[in-house]
Amino acid sequence: MLIRLAEIIDEPFRWAETRSFAAASLESDQLVGLGPISWSGEVTQAATGHLLVGRLGYEQQLACPRCLKPTTIVVEAEVELLIQPRSSEPTLGEVELEEEDLSILYVDGDELDIEPILREQLQLNVPMRQLCREDCRGLCPICGGDRNDEACDCEERQVDPRWEVLRNFGRGKH
Ligand SMILES: [Zn+2]
Ligand SMILES: [Zn+2]
Repeated sequence: MLIRLAEIIDEPFRWAETRSFAAASLESDQLVGLGPISWSGEVTQAATGHLLVGRLGYEQQLACPRCLKPTTIVVEAEVELLIQPRSSEPTLGEVELEEEDLSILYVDGDELDIEPILREQLQLNVPMRQLCREDCRGLCPICGGDRNDEACDCEERQVDPRWEVLRNFGRGKH
């Protein structure tokens, strides 16, 4: 959605929409489900430039990296950005003077595209590594069974071949 900044003078520009994004369009090995995303906010005139306040709410499903079971996470997030014309972007030497609390987005011209802002927020809210539970035991590499559901005896059957020789040797004696 494109917002024309020059038209925002006394009244703030408000938007409220429901968006859908393919989970595969974000960078994550774990993300298997996303949305629908409720995305709303407003842009108001600030002392210099404009202030954007956006809110997003949605559910995302992440496959556990150990057992592959999906976990649903509810995301409620808010984004605040100071919108400034590109011409006011500081040169390298001035960067230290920037206010650190508020993120600044520099735009070219009069149009603000809020699509990349939404996409960035979605990406930011994808956890780096989300286990279905802290102590997930994962899948058995031998039978593929979920060790959280039932313990298989694959590990016990995988006996060190050297012990196998000794055991057979012991049997032979009796
Ligand atoms: Zn798991
Ligand atoms: Zn197994």
